[in-house]
Amino acid sequence: MAIEKATGITVRLADYSETSQIATFVTDVAGRLSAIAKGARRTNSATGGPLDLLTVNEIVFSTSRSGGLATLREARTMEQFPALGRCVPRYYAALYCAEVSAFYSEGSEGSSGHFDLLRDSLRALSNVQEESLTNILFYFESHVLAVSGLSPNLATCARCGRGVPTRGPARISLEDGGLLCDACSGGVEIRRGSLAALRRIFESTPQNVQRLKLGRDLHRDVSGFLAAAVAHGAGRVPRLLRYVRPDAGNIRQRWMGAPVNR
Ligand SMILES: [Zn+2]
Repeated sequence: MAIEKATGITVRLADYSETSQIATFVTDVAGRLSAIAKGARRTNSATGGPLDLLTVNEIVFSTSRSGGLATLREARTMEQFPALGRCVPRYYAALYCAEVSAFYSEGSEGSSGHFDLLRDSLRALSNVQEESLTNILFYFESHVLAVSGLSPNLATCARCGRGVPTRGPARISLEDGGLLCDACSGGVEIRRGSLAALRRIFESTPQNVQRLKLGRDLHRDVSGFLAAAVAHGAGRVPRLLRYVRPDAGNIRQRWMGAPVNR
């Protein structure tokens, strides 16, 4: 049995018994971690009462050599985001980021990329004007792909490596992982302006992404592509997607070739 420390964001919580919880954290050093917090629902527990979702905590936990669920020994809340709970769109956006981060951070031990991204995104979702929430989701989605080594190739043909045309609509393919050249068939047409916006978003920060203003068509392209790329990389459509993208059905139809209802 080894005792370890980490900083972790609670991304999933389930009651386990009358007094215990099972918590899943996205951590800075231990990747995604699920731990049982015995007695956590008692106020005098080592976690100081029940754990809360979407909080940053310093945690001490033990793991057994046989693997499986870790045991949470101590937890101290370092940062909370009360603004998220006061506004439904903010809350759903945050839960979506948590769900996606929980998926992509599996096996990311030793790297704090997913932890940093989720914490920065929760901070931004707490603070920005409500009309900028979608831009923060664009930031999160592009960067969760980048942290996972799944950035689409937006420079050259993702299939053959040749140059891509610089005028007219571009074609982009989730299966190939980026743009396609004239010689390679397939993909989905995307406006030149949407491609420029995507390039900016992949280079953006939570601060400057807020200034991004897209017309309706470009917004639909960018929104659809990023949501579909995240679902494609995960191999499944996030449960919370339909709460943050009212047009989730269209996204799947256009970008993923999936039936609208499933
Ligand atoms: Zn090609």
